[in-house]
Amino acid sequence: MSSLVGPDEDNPLGKPDVPEHVQQAVRTLIEWAGDDPEREGLRDTPKRVARAWLEYCQGYQHDPAVHLARVFEEVGGYDEVVLLKDIPFQSHCEHHMAPIQGKAAIAYLPRDHVVGISKLARVLHGYARRLQIQERLTAEVAQCIWDHLKPHGVAVVIEAQHGCMTARGVRTPGVGMITSRMMGTFLEDQRSRKEVLSLMGY
Ligand SMILES: [Zn+2]
Repeated sequence: MSSLVGPDEDNPLGKPDVPEHVQQAVRTLIEWAGDDPEREGLRDTPKRVARAWLEYCQGYQHDPAVHLARVFEEVGGYDEVVLLKDIPFQSHCEHHMAPIQGKAAIAYLPRDHVVGISKLARVLHGYARRLQIQERLTAEVAQCIWDHLKPHGVAVVIEAQHGCMTARGVRTPGVGMITSRMMGTFLEDQRSRKEVLSLMGY
């Protein structure tokens, strides 16, 4: 009888393989930072870092618009603002690959149909899990909802802290950056814009 084939000792959970050149890149970076990549505590770090980056950048693996493919037409005549706020997210800045942490408020004025509310957060995460700048993240989320739900208006406000500012450079912890994108009614009609911003808490 053949013995049971156990899990790969090196990779017991079936995590993605990390090619040697990717591990080498992380070793080079550790050395560059001033440490010894061969010391015990750092020996498995290149694989961990490589897998962590696959996770941070999961957004490249699909088009966030897929989350808006299924809509509900029965809205019972509801034609007021739909808002999801305080949605936490993490991203990484494309200039330093440093973490960006923040929260978003996403609103739209439906035309004929709505989408499951969690889908707005999924669209946000789809774009956030890439190398980003906050301005583009804000614009991409708004544009995706605009293009695929064809609502009367879209409003996206993002407030975030940037690791490249808080942990390096000017080192200013606690400083938040706010970006916003208004489209349709929220852009054209001041009253609607004020209303949505006040619902968002701004
Ligand atoms: Zn940066």
